[in-house]
Amino acid sequence: MSSTKVALLVVAAGRGVRLGAERPKQYLLCAGRPLIAHTLEALAAGWPFSAATVAIRPDDRALYDEAVAHLTPAAAALLEPPAAGGKTRQQSVLTGLEALVRAGPDIVLIHDAARPFPSPALVARAVQAAKLHGAAAPGTPMSDTVKQVDADGRVLATPPRAALRAVQTPQAFAFPLILAAHRRAAAAGVAGLTDDVAVAEWAGAPAYVFEGEAANVKVTTMEDFNAAEARLTARAGETRVGQGFDVHAFAPGDHVWLCGVRIPHSAALSGHSDADVALHALADALYGALAEGDIGTHFPPSDPKWKGAASKVFLAHAADRVRARGGFIVNLDATLICEAPRIGPHREAMRASVAEIASLDAARVGVKATTTERLGFAGRGEGIACLATATVRLP
Ligand code: MG
Repeated sequence: MSSTKVALLVVAAGRGVRLGAERPKQYLLCAGRPLIAHTLEALAAGWPFSAATVAIRPDDRALYDEAVAHLTPAAAALLEPPAAGGKTRQQSVLTGLEALVRAGPDIVLIHDAARPFPSPALVARAVQAAKLHGAAAPGTPMSDTVKQVDADGRVLATPPRAALRAVQTPQAFAFPLILAAHRRAAAAGVAGLTDDVAVAEWAGAPAYVFEGEAANVKVTTMEDFNAAEARLTARAGETRVGQGFDVHAFAPGDHVWLCGVRIPHSAALSGHSDADVALHALADALYGALAEGDIGTHFPPSDPKWKGAASKVFLAHAADRVRARGGFIVNLDATLICEAPRIGPHREAMRASVAEIASLDAARVGVKATTTERLGFAGRGEGIACLATATVRLP
């Protein structure tokens, strides 16, 4: 059965309005990475999927691309282009299933983007359940007694708790079965089915519940989000600090690059690349925190490929190395040392630029400047120096 092709569909088209945040919850940075990036990697670690796609709102494409940039290369390589989600969850799932038709899977797992904790064992059980039953969802016993009530809150019934299950995702299906069920439901105008097993039930397929996991929570409220962040942060339990230092000399020119921002000036900085002294110091701070050498180790100056290179390549690479190690950047801090140009007017643009290049919140990026009271090479206006510090968390 190892030739069974298993596809993955992650549903990320919701708005997450209950969280009240500035972006949908699945894209909120949680322990340094968008929540959906944690979800996708947890799933990818659980099974060698043959294809995967994410159903997103077309408006969220930039957020989605940002999240994919946070994935390890192995997880990112799995993803087909995202499917354009519909107005309801049911429509989004159908669009995602249609996008997977070309891959010809035998089985599909359908999972909520806001459930970042599916274990490898749960993913394996889901695949087994689909092979065995054709339609199945993970479920956990109810710890609370459940009451059926009317609009006034009057209790109508107390269903026996032993027979009840709270269902989760990944829900697992024979691909042709769930594709046909969703197509029939859409053609029949049946809407409002809130999970995919309900669609299979509606289509008359026998559906089963297999053993879920209490830890496989869905992030719905801000409280859930904070708890998820605490769990993910605890997993990357080691704090590392790295430092970086760099100097570039002035040369004839009319602008300098600092933190990826072009700043008009009466001179340029000379160097092999664009001589962005701040990005170099920041990249070295990250390499230092990882104990992975320095910029020269990864981008040898002897290689003509890097001549005139935009230095954001170096910082982006260093940030990627943190993610490849399963960690995240807590903060970056740079101090520019020069008499001129003045940094203050450009500080916010620099912070935003570093945040974008390294994929973290601008609130976690510090950019400061100082002079040396006209002492030394910086004081004589011969060049610019930069000190940088990076804090990272690693598993
Ligand atoms: Mg340099």
